[in-house]
Amino acid sequence: MALTTDILKDSIGRNHNYLRISITEKCNLRCTYCMPAEGVPLSPSPELMTANEIYEIAKIFVANGVNKIRLTGGEPLVRKDFTEIIEKLSTLDVSIAMTTNAVNIDRYISNLKKFKVSIINVSLDTLKVNRFQEMTLKPNFDKVIKNIYMLINEGFQIKLNVVLLKGTNDSEILDFIELTKELPISIRFIEFMPFDGNNWDRSKAVSLEEIKQLVNESYPKEAVLKIEDAPNDTAKNYKIKNYKGSFAVISTVTNPFCDSCNRLRLTANGRLRNCLFSEKESDLLTAFRKGESIEPIIQKAVLAKAAVRAGLDTYEKFADPNHHSKNRSMITIGG
Ligand code: SAM
Ligand code: SF4
Repeated sequence: MALTTDILKDSIGRNHNYLRISITEKCNLRCTYCMPAEGVPLSPSPELMTANEIYEIAKIFVANGVNKIRLTGGEPLVRKDFTEIIEKLSTLDVSIAMTTNAVNIDRYISNLKKFKVSIINVSLDTLKVNRFQEMTLKPNFDKVIKNIYMLINEGFQIKLNVVLLKGTNDSEILDFIELTKELPISIRFIEFMPFDGNNWDRSKAVSLEEIKQLVNESYPKEAVLKIEDAPNDTAKNYKIKNYKGSFAVISTVTNPFCDSCNRLRLTANGRLRNCLFSEKESDLLTAFRKGESIEPIIQKAVLAKAAVRAGLDTYEKFADPNHHSKNRSMITIGG
C-alpha cells in the first residue's frame, strides 16, 4: 500500500490521532435529546461494518498515526459481537475507550479488563429515578447506578457525561458535583447540541457561563479550583478543593474548542465524518469492500475539514435549523 505521509494532518496543521467508531445505530434507551421521537432509519445489516471490517479499517488509521480509539454508537453494548470487536482492536498499538449508557456493562466487565478498555464514559443525566424514565423513556435507572458503582469498584477510570436541559435536569448540577466529594470520577456537563430531529433551541441549553456562575455562588471562591486541561481536551476542567473527583464543561455551543480538535468519526456503516457537525461523509466501506485503497479518501476528507464546526463558525449559523436538518441525528453519528 503506497503511504502518503501525514494523511491525518489537515490544512491548518491539526493532526488527527483520535478515531471515534460508532459500532451500531441501535440503542436500548431513547434519550429524547438524542433519538428523534419517530426513531431513525436504520441501515440494512449488510451495509454495516462487520467486526473484521472495523478491525481492518481501524488498522489503516493506526498505521497512519491514530493512537486512541473510542467505541460509541448508538449503544455499543447492544452489538452481539462487541467482545470480538474489542478483542481484535486490542491487538493494535492504540488505547481503547468507550462511551456507554452502562445498562449492560455488568456482563462485560471481565472482557473490558482483559482487552484493556480502561477509559469509560458513562452517560447519566439525572440522579432521580422518575426523571431517568422521563429522559430516556426506559426504566433502567437502578441497574445503571449499580453498574456505575461496579465499574468504580473494579478500578475503571470513569467520566460521567451529563447533558443539561434547562427546566429538566439543570437543578441537579450541584448534586452531580457533590458526588465527586467521595467518588474519584469526573463529571462532564455537556451543552445540549442541535441535531436532526432533536428539537434543539438555545433556550434549552445550559451554558458554560451559567454553570460557572452557579458554582461560584455555591462554593467559597478559594474552594473552586481550575485544573489544567489536557492537550486536545474538549472540556474545561475544575474541582472542588479536597474532593476526590472533578467536574468539567463541554461547551461546544457557546465556546467551541475546534483549534485543538484531533478527532475523526467513523459511522457504523463505514462513513468518515471530519466533524460532528459536518453534512458531508466519505464512504470508506464501499471502497474497502472493493479492495481499493481508502487512504486517498481519508486524506481528502481530512483536508476538507473546516476550521470551526464544519463551517458553522458563528453562533447564528450554528443555531439556524436549516443547518440541522441535513445533519444526521446524534444516535447515528456516534457521540
Ligand atoms: N449510547 C452511548 C451513551 O449514551 O453513552 C453512546 C452514544 S451517545 C450518542 C454519546 C454521547 O452523546 C452521550 O454522552 C450523549 O449524552 C451525548 N449526546 C447525545 N445527543 C446529544 C445532544 N443533542 N447534545 C449533547 N450531547 C448529546
Ligand atoms: Fe442511546 Fe446514548 Fe442516544 Fe441515549 S444518548 S439514546 S443511550 S445513544
